[in-house]
Amino acid sequence: LDPDEFRRQGHLIVDFLADYYQNVEKYPVRSQVEPGYLRKCLPKIAPYEPEPIETILQDVQKDIIPGLTHWQSPNFFAHFQCNASIAGFVGEMLSTGFNVVGFNWISSPAATELESIVMDWLGKLLNLPTSFLFSGGGGGVLQGTTCEAMLCTLTAARDQMLNKIGRENMGKLVVYESDQTHFSLQKAAKIAGINPSNIRSLMTTKSTAFGLSPDSLRSAIQSDIKSGLIPLFFCATIGTTSSNAVDPLGPLCDVAKDYNIWVHIDAAYAGSAFICSEFHYFLHGIDGANSFSLNAHKWFLTTLDCCCLWLKDPSALIKALSTDPEILKNEASDSNQVVDYKDWQIALSRRFRAMKIWFVLRSYGVSNLRKFIRGHVKMAKHFEGLIAMDKRFEVVVPRNFAMVCFRVSPLMVANANQKLLGEEDANEFNSKLLESINAAGRVYMTHAVVGGVYVIRLAVGATLTDYCHVNKAWKEIQEHAHTMQS
Ligand code: PLP
Repeated sequence: LDPDEFRRQGHLIVDFLADYYQNVEKYPVRSQVEPGYLRKCLPKIAPYEPEPIETILQDVQKDIIPGLTHWQSPNFFAHFQCNASIAGFVGEMLSTGFNVVGFNWISSPAATELESIVMDWLGKLLNLPTSFLFSGGGGGVLQGTTCEAMLCTLTAARDQMLNKIGRENMGKLVVYESDQTHFSLQKAAKIAGINPSNIRSLMTTKSTAFGLSPDSLRSAIQSDIKSGLIPLFFCATIGTTSSNAVDPLGPLCDVAKDYNIWVHIDAAYAGSAFICSEFHYFLHGIDGANSFSLNAHKWFLTTLDCCCLWLKDPSALIKALSTDPEILKNEASDSNQVVDYKDWQIALSRRFRAMKIWFVLRSYGVSNLRKFIRGHVKMAKHFEGLIAMDKRFEVVVPRNFAMVCFRVSPLMVANANQKLLGEEDANEFNSKLLESINAAGRVYMTHAVVGGVYVIRLAVGATLTDYCHVNKAWKEIQEHAHTMQS
């Protein structure tokens, strides 16, 4: 690794990326390539001789960029955003540049200690109970994704329970979620060895704004107990993927407590909003939970990947995931005075992710981070206002954060014979509308089906998005709807 050549190539890449961000709005937001396009562009075998960075970058421009869906475009309103920022990027550069492998404290004390410190900083900012912080007996860890966080917490809960009741009862353990819970819990449960027929996906309805009713959790638990099964784990969500619904934490945790169930709170997207006090009421009852996670790479200006997980009792996690091989033995670990993060996650090796969070927190400061979140929420409110002015459209579920679920109302859309549309026709109409908008490439949104209703989701949150982009998206939506109806 020659430092001068590293400097030269590094500068070229930074220039390349700066140009990319300058031009990102010009590309179709959703990639327009056909499956298999890249195989047609690239040679069949790897090059034998070295190639200059300039040639490789030309190919990135020519072959790779057309195959990107531009998540950093200000016109990206799909899924949930994946924030880029200067601080996140330079933090990532440092982390990659040092390329340390901080599996235990001695393998890079700064990586471990910075992680523990930023997890306490961030936990305090989010208004988490002190019991979730190192300073209050709990603790936080940075993982790659929410799916990993769910798997780790579920494994901790599983082993804690099996240690009490015996491994032979594994097949009796039951996991609870709502029909709005992210599918990563199902995946985690599969990997953790939960019997697939013991995953209860409890129904939610429009009357509770798609939040889970505590009564339905209680009756599912009671019915399982009657059948000789053992309730283990419940995942509540703040800000579901389909519609941003929020489960009522307080009453749900009360139910879980009655049956000694581990409660994990998945706030992958919405969690970042808790740096703003106006959202704190959603956290009411969190003291009753065992663990809480959010993805900083969604809405906290931190590049992928960066899932923040806090636990009240990290020892349950450590007992489930720790290993003690001879080759890693060292005085610091033996002293029990340090955190060895290898015991808080699936893999052994781990990246220095704390660097990114530290840079984001320091470079922007809490005041700007709050402005950032509030700015997106205001833009989403503005979009709701635009919808309210056009009778053809309706907001389908109440907005909690910065995502609006809307559709062309069946009451307002007639077909060519002037016959009003029913619900099913409306679903089909809205699905075609969304595809027509996305295919045009100027805006990208995705959909969900909530309570049988097909909704178009406009998730405001890309770092570069401003009011002009929201207005442009609205104009695009109206024009496509008009064309389809005429
Ligand atoms: N939970 C929620 C509420 C989400 O919205 C998502 C992703 O969008 C996930 C979990 C999955 O996150 P990850 O991809 O980090 O596993």
